[in-house]
Amino acid sequence: MGLETYFRKRNFSRTPEPKGKVLQTKRHRFVVQEHHASHLHFDFRLEIGGVLKSWSIPKGPSLDPGEKRLAVTTEDHPIAYLDFEGRIAEGNYGAGDVRVWDIGEFEPAVGEDPEKAYNAGKLNFTLQGEKLRGEFHLIRTGRDRQWLLIKSRDEFAEPGWKLETILPAAGKLSLPRARKKSSSPTKKAANASKQTRDKPIAAATAFEAKTLSGDLKLKIKSSTLALTNLDKVYWPEDGYTKGDLIRYYYDVTETILPYLKDRPLILKRYPNGIAKSFFYQHDVDQPPEFARTVTLDVEEGHKVDYLVGGSLETLLYTANLGAIEQHPWLSRARSLERPDWVVFDLDPGKDVRFETICKVAVSLRDLLAELGLDCHAKTSGSRGIHVYIPIKPDYSYEQTAEFAERVAARVVKQQPAIATIERSLKKRRRGQIYVDHMQNARGKSVAAPYSVRPKPGAMVSAPLTWREVEAAEITPQEFTIKSMPKRIRRRGDLFAAVLKSKQSLNKAMKELNEAG
Ligand code: MN
Repeated sequence: MGLETYFRKRNFSRTPEPKGKVLQTKRHRFVVQEHHASHLHFDFRLEIGGVLKSWSIPKGPSLDPGEKRLAVTTEDHPIAYLDFEGRIAEGNYGAGDVRVWDIGEFEPAVGEDPEKAYNAGKLNFTLQGEKLRGEFHLIRTGRDRQWLLIKSRDEFAEPGWKLETILPAAGKLSLPRARKKSSSPTKKAANASKQTRDKPIAAATAFEAKTLSGDLKLKIKSSTLALTNLDKVYWPEDGYTKGDLIRYYYDVTETILPYLKDRPLILKRYPNGIAKSFFYQHDVDQPPEFARTVTLDVEEGHKVDYLVGGSLETLLYTANLGAIEQHPWLSRARSLERPDWVVFDLDPGKDVRFETICKVAVSLRDLLAELGLDCHAKTSGSRGIHVYIPIKPDYSYEQTAEFAERVAARVVKQQPAIATIERSLKKRRRGQIYVDHMQNARGKSVAAPYSVRPKPGAMVSAPLTWREVEAAEITPQEFTIKSMPKRIRRRGDLFAAVLKSKQSLNKAMKELNEAG
């Protein structure tokens, strides 16, 4: 036990936090600090063995015995940290505002040595704070660093109890964090929060907040859009929330919308994040008033109302439904039977190096160039590459599908060792890349450019330059919801040609037909 980790994580010339030292006292103090870092959480600390044993509680403690709160151990803090409040500046570990939410003494259970109990993973104690009173239990669950904080059913228990933050939680208040600083004391701010909670907030104002949490009503033009459960964790390994997903789409709106505009959308919904189950939704029963839909006959007598993409409201609405990916059709509402791009999905098998996928993509590009066609590449946002040929909406899905199949077969002929059109996984050789041309059918789709993918790291489908593909100098993992907005600012929309170019397939089809 010691403070090595605490010291290592901090630069004391840059953080207002106390340096402190290990200090044996006879006291048992506790503190709960409200910490508005990249994610609002509550730090629970108990004075044990000369330091503050610490847990991060995402939802904060509760007086409701029915609410078991996840508490994750963090590094020991010095006792001097007990009454620390302030703002940890940007760029430092734990940047954001810290407030003492509750402070007081704790009394270990009769006959319990807190240090031994901590090591054994089960602490029983009574809290004597302003807000937290009565008996609590902290129990290690056996999983990595995870404990549960549970209130006993005693006279201090309050079923249905709701935690109130001292500083307004971003996302629940119309005031952006930057402005909040100059406005006076917390009490006033808390009142403002109550008054404005149900009032829609202009999107531009809402997204100024550092973190999006709770529920939020957005005003976009004349529409109101309800965003819910924004602090639900969607990427458990990375800690990214639904709010982070929605913020990404908000940040890249102008760039992604042209790829969704006028296209029916297939919703692939992950309501509980990427580690839990998903389902497809084509039919929207009760679309919000701002939504544009198109009704399609899919089978005899069976109609489906598809959402049509192209507006900020619809984009954020689908993200709020847990549609992590954006899946537009290959054709637009005004010419539904005529796709305006052809797509190849280069899908690697196991143990394929990204370099090899790049090699197949370059072969495909060269082959299309021989046929007089330009094409454009992007990472799939997973391990593969998508190649798009922008075309005039003059051909049926049957025609483009047949064309894509012939092109794929030709690539495989040129690169038989590394490329295949064998659909059966079993029949594919190890290390081969599947040149998937099957998405060129009505009602199918691949993840759009700039679409987020439900993969660890919150990877994004990233348009690439052909130079990047040829050099194979990038990795798909480097494009994420964090890095992509910066790349767009630096490089612009590398896929823009797909929107502008309208190529005819006539000559290429003729050549492929003649070659047989
Ligand atoms: Mn913290």
